[in-house]
This record gives sequence, structure tokens and C-alpha cells, in this order.
Amino acid sequence: MHRAIAASAFLFLFAGAAHAAPAFDPDAATRAWLATMGPEATARSNAYFEGGYWIEYLGSAVMIAISLALMILGWAAGVRSWLERTVKAYFLVALGMALFYQLVSTALTFPFSWYVGFVREHQFGLATQSFPEWFGEYLINAALSIAVGALFIALLYLIVRAAKKTWWLWGAGVTIAGMVAIMTLFPVFVAPLFNTYTPMQEGPLKTEILAMAQANGVPADNVYVFDVSRQSNRVTANVSGMFGTTRISLSDTLIERASPAAVRAVMGHEIGHYVLQHLVSILTMLAVLIALVYALVNWSFQRVARGERWGVRGVDDPAGLPLAFALLTFWFAVATPINNNITRFHEHQADIFGVNASRAPEGFAEAAVMLSEYRKMEPGAFEEWFFYDHPSGYARIHMSMTWLANEIAAGRAPPSSGGPPEGWRPDFVVTRE
Ligand SMILES: [Zn+2]
Repeated sequence: MHRAIAASAFLFLFAGAAHAAPAFDPDAATRAWLATMGPEATARSNAYFEGGYWIEYLGSAVMIAISLALMILGWAAGVRSWLERTVKAYFLVALGMALFYQLVSTALTFPFSWYVGFVREHQFGLATQSFPEWFGEYLINAALSIAVGALFIALLYLIVRAAKKTWWLWGAGVTIAGMVAIMTLFPVFVAPLFNTYTPMQEGPLKTEILAMAQANGVPADNVYVFDVSRQSNRVTANVSGMFGTTRISLSDTLIERASPAAVRAVMGHEIGHYVLQHLVSILTMLAVLIALVYALVNWSFQRVARGERWGVRGVDDPAGLPLAFALLTFWFAVATPINNNITRFHEHQADIFGVNASRAPEGFAEAAVMLSEYRKMEPGAFEEWFFYDHPSGYARIHMSMTWLANEIAAGRAPPSSGGPPEGWRPDFVVTRE
């Protein structure tokens, strides 16, 4: 009995001793980081991101409406018949149809693109371009998308005609191959049209980024800075390239706006995407999703275009292109949460890799607060599952602070507040003096 009393007294003392040094609380630290935003920035962040939900579905609805109008008015069948009389060859008919459809839909959706890409970005202080600058880049972008898109659509029609009932399977394979080609060529031929890439200035930050990259097996011996500030205030970075063109790049805005610890945390995240082979993994999952969506397009197309409705003779008739696109847009909109979950799963992995590689949990929290300029910090659980293609700011900060709590408990990090430095405020562009 005496022993029991002694034991409980010892436990009591021990508990008292543990309470004496305030334990690191990841929840409180997360709250402290979120509080640095203030109510105004929080409201602005929520408004920007929630507006994006409407934009996404409204954009899909506009595309479907335009496409169905082209079918119902008989323009699609009319253009197809005219192409058959003039250019004759099936590939050229499909190519002509794709050019016609993309030109019309790009022109008709221009007001929407202008509002989303220019007006709204300025309203929220994210854009830095004048209208002529923005419009010039918009035209280059549109011309490239229409040209590459038309070639791809014509190729897909050849596959539909050759493979018949199994076109959705072969089509998905060719779509993934096309994506790989674009990802290989984009950094070399397209990105330099919009931004200049220069080697990063020598210094401790560059040395640390390269050390982290090489320690994790990234075959790169230089770091590049690109002038995102020409277009926007957004911060961004990537490890891009395939087949021996691996390159680490970060935006000038990131260096200018974030602390060195935050830059290291962000680069750790990007290195994570590379090391964890996310491209291969994402493309594999996407291949399954695309095959499924194509199969649904095939199935619904047969039902809608039954009995040569709107002059469409079958799935392989280019006259049905606007209908196929309307259905594709519809099914991809339905699949939005699946697509978001595929991406968010990988982003979460890269987050954990980044904190481990950089050992900069506070830098990562800082970066997460900065990204609130275009991503709502604290969504509901369903909202995050449905709409988020990255973990929310809250989830990211909480993960970093939990990581730090474990490091402190293991004696590998000094007991610190883990919260934002005294008086620290995020450098939000709209509220700059
Ligand atoms: Zn990422």
C-alpha cells in the first residue's frame, strides 16, 4: 500500500514537472500562423477561391452551350460537308473541322477568358500586366493551343475510324503520349516564349538548394530563376524536364517575397515531385481516368446522336466534334473530384518530402500563408475533398507543426514556439504600402 502511495505521488510529481515546461502545441502554432493573415486578407482569400468554384463550372457550361448550338444550328454538319467537297481526305476534313470548332469557341469564350484571366486577376492584385501585354500573350497561347489541338483531334479521329468500338482505349493511350510530348517540349520551346530563364545568383541559398537536390538524387548542377513578375505576383517553382533535360527553376517573385527558409521548403516540395516519380504515377492514374471518360463519351454520343441526329453519321464523323467535346466537358466536370484527389494525393506526398528534405517547417508554414492569396486556408472537410487539388493552407501548416512537435519531442529541434516570428506579417501584394 505504501508502495502504491509512493508511486502515485511520484506520478503526480512527474506530471507536475511535465506541465512546468509548456509543451509545444501544433494546434496553437497553426492558429498563430493563420492569425497573421488578419480578417481582411482571410475574406479576400476565401472570395477569390470560392469564386473559382463557380468559374470552373460556369466555364464548362459555356463550352457545352456553344458546342450544342453549333450542332443544333446545323453549322457543324454544314462545315463538314463543305470540307468533304473541297479538301476530301478524311484527315484533312477532321483537321479543318477541329480548326473551325476551336476558332469559333475561342472567339465566343473570349469575354469569359478576359474576365477570368485579366480583370479578376487585377481585382485581387495578382496580375502585373497591362491589357496589351496580356492580350499579346493570350494570342500566342491561343494560336499554339488551336494548332496543336487541331492536329491532335485529327489524329484522334484517325484512331476512332481505325479502332472503331475500342477507340476510347487506344485514344487514351495516344492522349497520354501527347501529354508526355508536350511536357518534354514545353520547357524547351514554349516556356521561353513567355519568360526568361537565367542562372540563379551564387550565394548560400543557391548552394543550399543544390545541396538538397543532389542529396536527394536530382541530376541538376544549376538553379534557374524565371521572371514571373512580368505576368503576375504569384510565387512558383518546379523541377521540370525529362530525358536528360532536368532543370530546377524558381520564380523571381518567390525569391523576392519569401524568406530563405520558405524558399528551401518550397524547393524541397518540388524536388519531392521529381524524386517520388510523380509524373509517372500521375500519368498512370490519369490514363485510367481518361479511358473511363472517353468510354463514357462514346456511350453517351451513341445515345444523343442516334438516328443521324443533326446530320451526324457516327462517332467517327467529324461533324460530331462539337457534340463529342460537349460530352467530354460534361464528363470531365463530373470527374472533377476524382481528378482533384489524384493531384492532391501527390501534392500531400511532396509536402511531407519537402519538410523532411528542407527541415524547414516554419518556412513551409510561411509559404502556405503566402499561397492564401489564391487558395482558401480553412475549407470544410467535404469542400477540401471535392475542390482542392492541393492540401489546404490549414492542412499544410498543421502537418509542418506536427512534424516540428515530433522533432522537438525527439530532441532533434530546440523547443521553440514554432509559430510565426514576433510581429511577422505575410507580404500580401494588395496591402503593400
Ligand atoms: Zn506540388
